[in-house]
Amino acid sequence: MSQRKIVIEPDPILRKKSETLEKVDDELRALLDDMLETMYAAPGIGLAAVQIGILKRLIVIDISKDKDKKKDPLFLINPEIISRSKKTSIYEEGCLSLPGHFAEIERPAECLIKFLDYNGKEKELSANGLLSTCIQHEVDHLNGILFIDYLSKLKKDMIIKKLIKHKKELNKVVL
Ligand code: ZN
Repeated sequence: MSQRKIVIEPDPILRKKSETLEKVDDELRALLDDMLETMYAAPGIGLAAVQIGILKRLIVIDISKDKDKKKDPLFLINPEIISRSKKTSIYEEGCLSLPGHFAEIERPAECLIKFLDYNGKEKELSANGLLSTCIQHEVDHLNGILFIDYLSKLKKDMIIKKLIKHKKELNKVVL
C-alpha cells in the first residue's frame, strides 16, 4: 500500500465526472487499499478516487471515530443512490480537497444505495446519520460536485480565494 497525493481545490479534475468500473480485480483492490491508507493518514472519514486524481467511481469510507477500535472500512465501487428520504439533516462538512474549510450542509437524512463491494459482489445499503451524509458527499465527488456548491456564491468564492492563496504559499520553496 502507498499513500497518494490529495488533489486540492481549485483543480479542474475535481469538476469532472468519474467513470464506471467494468471489473473488480486485484489491480482495483490495490488502488482501493491506497485510497484507504491515504484517507487514514490525512486523516479523513471519506475519500473518492478523483481526490487522488483518478476518474473512477470508487469511494472509501470509515466513520468509526474511536481510534483504538478496530477499523471499519467501507469500499464502494460504482455506488448509485437509489432513493433519498424527504426528511433532511444538517452536518458541518469538511473535505480533504478543501483543507481548513467547513460549512453546515443540509442533505436527505437517509439514503439507499447499491454498489459493488471489495470482492465485486452486488450489495445494497440503507444509511442514516453521518454515514448517509458521508456517502452523499462522496457520490457528489464522482459527479464533479463539491460541498461548497451548496453555499451562496459569495461564501463559495471566498473559500476558493483562500484556497488559491493557500496553494500559492505551498508552492513557495526555499533553496
Ligand atoms: Zn470531499
